[in-house]
Amino acid sequence: MNHREKLKAKKRVVIKIGSSSLTHPETGGQDLIKLEKLVRELTDLKNRGMDVTLVSSGAIAVGKKAVHISGSTKSLTEEGIAVKQACAAIGQARLMMTYQKLFAEYNQITAQILMTKKTVLDPLSRRNTHNTFTELFKLGVIPVVNENDTVATYEIDNLGVFGDNDTLSAIVTALVDADLLILLSDIDGLYTDDPRDNPDARFIPQVDELTDDLFHMGKSTTGSSVGTGGMSTKLNAAKIATSAGADMVIANGHDVEVIHRIIDGEEIGTLFSAHRDENFYMADYLSD
Ligand code: GLU
Repeated sequence: MNHREKLKAKKRVVIKIGSSSLTHPETGGQDLIKLEKLVRELTDLKNRGMDVTLVSSGAIAVGKKAVHISGSTKSLTEEGIAVKQACAAIGQARLMMTYQKLFAEYNQITAQILMTKKTVLDPLSRRNTHNTFTELFKLGVIPVVNENDTVATYEIDNLGVFGDNDTLSAIVTALVDADLLILLSDIDGLYTDDPRDNPDARFIPQVDELTDDLFHMGKSTTGSSVGTGGMSTKLNAAKIATSAGADMVIANGHDVEVIHRIIDGEEIGTLFSAHRDENFYMADYLSD
């Protein structure tokens, strides 16, 4: 059986979608058609019998839009951070309102889980979070996860902050013992170089080993002005997820229907194969 076929047997999946996939680039408003399709895809996976978790960005982008703030919020001045955190507080609630409403159409219960790096570095809160996820799966709920941007501390070198939801989604994959992570991005997968700059860049459909060469190839840019996380954060996410024993697929989130097509075994995006490290220890992958 080829590796893609094996994805059909997955039982517990984490799906990550970025801000740029959830908002309209021209206006910053929520892309409701895409959100609606996403929710339908996730509920369908759940109906197939899988445990499903969504890691959704978008809090800051949606909050900015709500209070009419435009431009970058990447500034690390104290004021810049406060603006970003206030936008996250506004936007997270709005985003959940949209998810609740859309999931309700299918009678699907959802829940919100907000985490920081400290949540997983502290053994007790890590266990509590793990237990909460386990209980939510038993109850048939689809949790929606984001970084708790309003309490995370950005001041000193992003202390205590995942900073990007690629890393967060890989940590969640490890935390809930998922067997598949799908990262929906604004690119099709991994290339030998940035395809936007280099027309000779070749697409890599499958990665069986994460070599240093691959890490050198990953560049820290997505070309998108919303959200964070370039190819290097995706490769780090791949390192965490595959070491924790999960396969990972990076695919273009332009059409969210790729989710069920990937699980049906279609050759979409780049597949990173699992290499469980028996000594996997989450904190090793998170500098504090
Ligand atoms: N947690 C941030 C948000 O919801 C996004 C981080 C990211 O884009 O990776 O706005």
